[in-house]
Amino acid sequence: MPERVSGTRRHGWDLFLTGFAMLLLTALMGDLAAALTTGTGAPAPPRATGPRDTPTPPRGIALNEPDRFEPPVASRAWKSIVLHHSATSQGNVASIDAVHRKQKDRSGNPWLGIGYHFVVGNGQQMADGEIQPTFRWIRQLAGAHAGSRDFNESGIGVCLIGNFDERAPTAKQVAAVRELLRALARHYAIPRERIFRHLDIQATLCPGRLFPWDQAVAGLPLEPKGS
Ligand SMILES: [Zn+2]
Repeated sequence: MPERVSGTRRHGWDLFLTGFAMLLLTALMGDLAAALTTGTGAPAPPRATGPRDTPTPPRGIALNEPDRFEPPVASRAWKSIVLHHSATSQGNVASIDAVHRKQKDRSGNPWLGIGYHFVVGNGQQMADGEIQPTFRWIRQLAGAHAGSRDFNESGIGVCLIGNFDERAPTAKQVAAVRELLRALARHYAIPRERIFRHLDIQATLCPGRLFPWDQAVAGLPLEPKGS
């Protein structure tokens, strides 16, 4: 079966040639690939890498907006908040301070100054809805506003400018006092049951019959059950 032999031989030769060609092609392709890799695979220029980008807040900017009322010194152990009105149509921290400096405590000593910790303006002598902390808050001193030793010692005194027996507070004042109450209640874990109008703890009309109490404390957390 010469033809078969020859055929087989020929077939073998063809296979050999094809294989050789394939090897050659593979080698060429390999070289080509290597050449391409060398061409484009040159090491990339080093990137400008500075120190790690750890965000550093600019000085004077609070990290958390809700903590913007945080005092610069260690806090007293605040347990309650007492709301007042100034019973005047206009005013600011300085005008109340001037009046309160003329007051005397039960021992006959003059007050250090304004008895509240915060004042909320109504657009008359202070911006409408502006919240200003007083020296008592900044230095974390006891207040002189509640007519009660306990409430002065551990109660945050907040005064809104205005006479709310005659006219309701402005919308911005209500929004501001809500924001202030929410921040203080959260920061000092003061439940709604420990937020008072002055008239809740003393025989007075303060903060006036038009003070929107329900609106001011709406949404504040209640005392956890069982505590
Ligand atoms: Zn009062």
